[in-house]
Amino acid sequence: MTTLIFGHQNPDTDAVTSAMSWAEFQRQSGNTDVEAVALGDLNDETKFALDFFKKDAPRVITAANGEPVMLVDHNEAQQSVADRADSTIVSVVDHHRFANFETAAPLFIRAEPVGSTNSIIYEMFQEKGFTISAQLAGLMLSGIVSDTLLLKSPTTTDLERKILPELADIAGIDLADYGLKMLKAGTNLAAKSDLDIAEGDAKSFDMGGKTVRIGQVNVVDLDEIYARQATIEATLKAEAEKNGYDLFVLIATDILNSNSAGLAFGEGKDKLEAAFAAKFDAQGRLALPGVVSRKKQVVPPLQAAFEA
Ligand code: ZN
Ligand code: ZN
Repeated sequence: MTTLIFGHQNPDTDAVTSAMSWAEFQRQSGNTDVEAVALGDLNDETKFALDFFKKDAPRVITAANGEPVMLVDHNEAQQSVADRADSTIVSVVDHHRFANFETAAPLFIRAEPVGSTNSIIYEMFQEKGFTISAQLAGLMLSGIVSDTLLLKSPTTTDLERKILPELADIAGIDLADYGLKMLKAGTNLAAKSDLDIAEGDAKSFDMGGKTVRIGQVNVVDLDEIYARQATIEATLKAEAEKNGYDLFVLIATDILNSNSAGLAFGEGKDKLEAAFAAKFDAQGRLALPGVVSRKKQVVPPLQAAFEA
């Protein structure tokens, strides 16, 4: 049996590349029958990183079909493989909150409140004295750049500030130049449908018994989102009604100025306003100055507002 290694649904660059780095960690540990896979198509940013470092895209799966699994970059059931309840979870390496998580058997877990899953795996390579190829260093670096917005997100920790230059050395690249190119590759909205924009990076969360869907899209200019606001909002409504989301929020993040704006459909827009002590304006936009991290700056206050 091959052990499948994967990050969350709607995979981002950290989800995809941490599956690859964890697979390599397993191989160097002597566990060779492993495969890094993805729970969905790759986004443009991740495709750019894989192209740049000449790495083939992983196979996309929707079910584990009885194979043992190793989770990276997630643990919550609703963000994982559809048949997770029937799968043996061998390990979890993650940097998110734990929720909806229980297993039938003992397992290996390593979780740290750091900026990316690749940061944790890099530490583990160092602890074991395992080797990191230039290609793998580039892929791990890409995951860290993506999650920390090139060290600008408040999710960044001292660990990323220390290891990102080390990985750039191993990869043999100029960190600032490559990092900005990679982030910009993920902001090409012209090539994205409204559904891609709303759903491309979306995750579901249980908040006070409500299903809250939160998508995030990186842009270099928020006007690109405002120009398409009506059809994006229609998409949020259609997806919420189709999938039973009580609230669907889209956070558009200006990666150059480190600000965001929120659009939303559903019951609980007042919770968003309470969470951020701000009001949707007449055009239905919620200004979120300084907000760039869904995990650290959106989910906790929104959860608190729903459970207040
Ligand atoms: Zn992720
Ligand atoms: Zn991550």
